[in-house]
Amino acid sequence: MLRLEKISKQYASLQVVDKISLDVPPGNIFGIIGRSGAGKSTLLRLMNLLEKPDSGAMYLGERRVDTLSGRELLLERRKMGMIFQNFNLFSSRNVADNVAYPLEIAGLPRRQIDLRVGELLELTQISDKRRARLRELSGGQKQRVAIARALAAEPQILFCDEATSALDPQTTRSILSLIKNLQKFLQITVVVVTHQMEVIRAICEQVAVLEDGHVAESGAVKNVFARPKSSAARELLHAA
Ligand code: ATP
Ligand code: MG
Repeated sequence: MLRLEKISKQYASLQVVDKISLDVPPGNIFGIIGRSGAGKSTLLRLMNLLEKPDSGAMYLGERRVDTLSGRELLLERRKMGMIFQNFNLFSSRNVADNVAYPLEIAGLPRRQIDLRVGELLELTQISDKRRARLRELSGGQKQRVAIARALAAEPQILFCDEATSALDPQTTRSILSLIKNLQKFLQITVVVVTHQMEVIRAICEQVAVLEDGHVAESGAVKNVFARPKSSAARELLHAA
């Protein structure tokens, strides 16, 4: 689905992402774990084409995407959705208008937008808050709105950057199970970035452990956590 070949990114003299190669298979939940500063968010911004790597190559399906620009880049980016720890919603818009935003940008007619927003709010189980202001929502409810908005343009890949890190354990479980159900139902690929082992254990099939901008180890979740080979994986395991 998404393949990275020796992708690197440097900020000033800091090598934040260092020759990372990854293969994210389609229809899967792929985890990326590492402690703070390991380069997870930077890697995610490279994967969703928000940033350009200094070197390496990236493929979405068969197509090389890291070299694209302009309209071609925009079209590939439409295949990707993203959610964040702090939700990144528009506080001045209500729930439905937040979800409608990407559809308005895409120029859909109003009636179609309203229909689609209704479906998306059903899908993320937040229909009852359709007209609510954002400040009236809990963190978990906000994340449901953010997921609905991220799915509006029917992406093939959903990127989640610490999507549950600001939530309590019970709300975390409900959001993780929503993500898992959506992945199955919509047959999309999901990439989950986190520093929490439990998140990876709960929903991911495969995981890459990041340490100082490189992949310390990767593989099936059950193998990596049962028999961690790297000190980075062992450290995360002990912290859990
Ligand atoms: P966290 O778990 O705290 O979110 P992370 O693994 O997501 O950490 P990144 O945000 O990718 O880590 O940052 C990795 C390193 O790159 C950090 O040292 C950070 O300061 C640096 N960095 C990230 N973005 C930039 C930028 N735009 N300019 C300069 N340095 C940056
Ligand atoms: Mg981060």
